[in-house]
Amino acid sequence: MERVFSGIQPTGVLHLGNYLGAVRNWVAIQSDYECIYCVVDLHAVTQSYDVAAMPGRILELATGLLACGLDATQVRLFVQSSLPQHAELAWVFTCVTSMGELGRQTQFKSKSEQQADNINVGLFAYPVLQAADILLYKASRVPVGEDQEQHLELSREIARRFNARFGATFPEPRTLFTSTPRIRGLDGAAKMSKSLGNHIAVDEDEAVLRRKLASAVTDPARQKRADPGHPEICNIYSLHKFFSDSGSCQEIESACRTAAIGCVDCKKRLGDQLLAHFAPIRERWRTLRERPDEVRDVLRQGQRQCQQLADATMAEVRAKMGLNW
Ligand code: SF4
Repeated sequence: MERVFSGIQPTGVLHLGNYLGAVRNWVAIQSDYECIYCVVDLHAVTQSYDVAAMPGRILELATGLLACGLDATQVRLFVQSSLPQHAELAWVFTCVTSMGELGRQTQFKSKSEQQADNINVGLFAYPVLQAADILLYKASRVPVGEDQEQHLELSREIARRFNARFGATFPEPRTLFTSTPRIRGLDGAAKMSKSLGNHIAVDEDEAVLRRKLASAVTDPARQKRADPGHPEICNIYSLHKFFSDSGSCQEIESACRTAAIGCVDCKKRLGDQLLAHFAPIRERWRTLRERPDEVRDVLRQGQRQCQQLADATMAEVRAKMGLNW
């Protein structure tokens, strides 16, 4: 089986963007690959955060991932900071990565704009830590969306450069072509994100979910109920395509174009679908929240399993670099 690595930040909420863009794929491929999934808390500290809330966020995210269907008997799920080899390998990789390459990363530029008062070195070196996350386990496949492809290319370049300088050590990780759509925010922004406040959480309370949908941006051309719409540019319709069956989608599409359905009804139908889809996940989540020690056990088990791989890689890296005195 090929080995897959993927990580998710503990931002405090698991939202539709995370679910559709990553987590449902993680679940879908868990029996087809040797999957290592990681709560990447060291990445999360590149932005300002509430220190007291962080342990709860990590545990809550792990609980949510298990509720979404990750099977701890099939995957290794652990917390990044529980294995210091990630940071150690990242340091090694910073020594084979140029400043120019990191400065050209588009995500660094966009994040720098978002947090102009906190452009720290960690933010700059973020893709180097990502490369370390993947290569520490010699993962050959990484399920990424388009916005991460540039980082993955950098990981390949880092692997090539290390191998050329110190001897063949790392595979060049390739994209795993699962469906990883970028989900737009409810405000129409390019990406759904907690920091932008334009998200719907997987475990959103029904009243909040309905309220968020009610104020979500649709087709701006539909000013009045009688105006015909353009579902192809409407974010609500794009969400219907994930959560409603194809017959319903076809019906909504033509009803929108002829103004036979209004946005209020269309959003209500989406809300019904979301609540139905996530009901079993929410139920499992509730149950698991009452058993946090079980979730901690899963994370510790994942840590133990990954530690063996991480130790082996770092022993090899140190030997090849002449650091094994
Ligand atoms: S009817 Fe539905 S698909 Fe059409 S514009 Fe309104 S919300 Fe979007």
